[in-house]
Amino acid sequence: MTLPAYRGRFAPSPTGPLHAGSLLAALGSWLLARQASGGWLLRIEDVDPPREIAGAADGQRAALAAFGLHHDGPVEYQSRHGHLYLTALDRLLTDGLAFECHCSRSDLAATGGIHRRCVAGARRPDPAIRLRVPDGCEIAFDDLVHGRVVQRVDVEVGDFVLRRTDGLWAYQLAVVVDDADQGITDVVRGADLLDSTPRQLLLQRALGVPTPRYAHLPLLLGADGRKLSKSCAAMPVDPTGPLPALRACWAALGQVALPASIESPAGFLIAATDAFRIDRVPRNALPASAAAHNADA
Ligand code: GLU
Repeated sequence: MTLPAYRGRFAPSPTGPLHAGSLLAALGSWLLARQASGGWLLRIEDVDPPREIAGAADGQRAALAAFGLHHDGPVEYQSRHGHLYLTALDRLLTDGLAFECHCSRSDLAATGGIHRRCVAGARRPDPAIRLRVPDGCEIAFDDLVHGRVVQRVDVEVGDFVLRRTDGLWAYQLAVVVDDADQGITDVVRGADLLDSTPRQLLLQRALGVPTPRYAHLPLLLGADGRKLSKSCAAMPVDPTGPLPALRACWAALGQVALPASIESPAGFLIAATDAFRIDRVPRNALPASAAAHNADA
């Protein structure tokens, strides 16, 4: 049997400029793909127009190019994949694995927003569609950075939304359908999505598609100690001076400093592809300022 070639991806939401936290995820996933002589795809996750910032996707693409993080093949846009999501949703509904839900947020307030059974007083014209999570549903997987991760999806998450009441596709469905459709073998992304991964495994099983390997990289913390939100415009990286940001991300990934004599992003990425060690990547978030400081050392 031939194993599929390595196919990684970077999948930003166009909610603002590329900042240090997303550059770190892009760099880590690019390095692992290139180290495996694999492909690295770019997918713009634009399924949530209310959160989208005009021009952000083009800005992110330009920034990735300035950092030398070139992708393979055409850029994919989730906003053009509605037909794929609809096919998957129809199949889950037909198989009885998904259901229409008329509950409102206040209906679910008593259970902390966790849905186990419909408690809606009235039917609404715009029901959400949720995945039915069986009682006792425990999902486990081995993350390349975090080791064994186990989640009781019924207790910790509940039946989760696949299509929202406003008709928009939920991230969980879109990401699973696209990772499968694009033949992604390795998902490398920020640790803020670690607790979404069991939901994605459950959906992959429900849809009968393969499960990729996963590696969740540490988050960067802002000066206030809070994670640098992906939608936060604070600390956008400067694509006109790419090397300091690349060195800072490299340090935040726990890697041994590369020679100070390297002068171009392309030279940096060649040396980094050679030297990158996934077993050096820390699990925990680092203050962005410490990462920048380590990079100067
Ligand atoms: N679009 C998601 C985000 O920017 C990332 C999705 C993923 O990598 O699975 O947070």
